Amino acid sequence: MNMVTDEDIRCNIDAIREAIGKAALKSCCRPDKIKLVAVTKTVPADRVRVALDCGIRFLGENRVQEAMEKRTCLGEYGFEYHLIGTLQKNKVNKAVPCFDWIQSVDSAELAQKISQAAVFAGKVIPVLLQVNLGGEETKSGTDEESLFALAVSASTCAGISVRGLMAIPPFLEDPEAVRPYFAQLRELAAKIKQMNLPKISMNELSMGMSHDFSVAVEEGATMVRIGTAIFGERYRA
Ligand SMILES: *Cc1c(COP(=O)(O)O)cnc(C)c1O
Repeated sequence: MNMVTDEDIRCNIDAIREAIGKAALKSCCRPDKIKLVAVTKTVPADRVRVALDCGIRFLGENRVQEAMEKRTCLGEYGFEYHLIGTLQKNKVNKAVPCFDWIQSVDSAELAQKISQAAVFAGKVIPVLLQVNLGGEETKSGTDEESLFALAVSASTCAGISVRGLMAIPPFLEDPEAVRPYFAQLRELAAKIKQMNLPKISMNELSMGMSHDFSVAVEEGATMVRIGTAIFGERYRA
């Protein structure tokens, strides 16, 4: 049972903003450059509204259907909707009109599908390339070796604009143990930048979740994706 109150949500957001500010000092990044993406999967729209009233401007969802429903409920707020979960190819046509960003592009075929849907919808959608840093079989993301080919391929796609990289590193109890993974993502982005591909920028690093976001920001995250630290334990599996 989730017992988090509206007031808890407000306090949680304040505390996270403060922690981001402190961590940003260590990375020399301006705290206002770091996007706090509130991850709202399973969270009912009335709780999400509390976060939006605190000035949250970026929401992350894993599932297209759930996002479409909430978007309808929360239409009066101006927020950017980020798809952070695995995108099945048969959902692309629904995802592209619903989301403002897609953070989970992990294959050339998916990039191609998103490209076609975006061109059809008359929009250019910013995307991140998702990397599977730990080589974990259960996680999506391209492996490191295929990342560079994916970047080349995505750079030729109309209707998408590659802005950086995203990763979900292995869950490790001690956030310090995750630091090398965050550093690795930053280095991969630097390598892609050096390739000077047309239409690709590598200014965004989406990394860090509830328990390790401070370390991620210290290592250069520009987007942190935070769910439980804002809304408490998830409402359903
Ligand atoms: C659920 C989820 C998050 C948020 O995780 P918390 O530990 O609740 O902060 C971040 N990123 C992705 C891709 C997720 O699926």
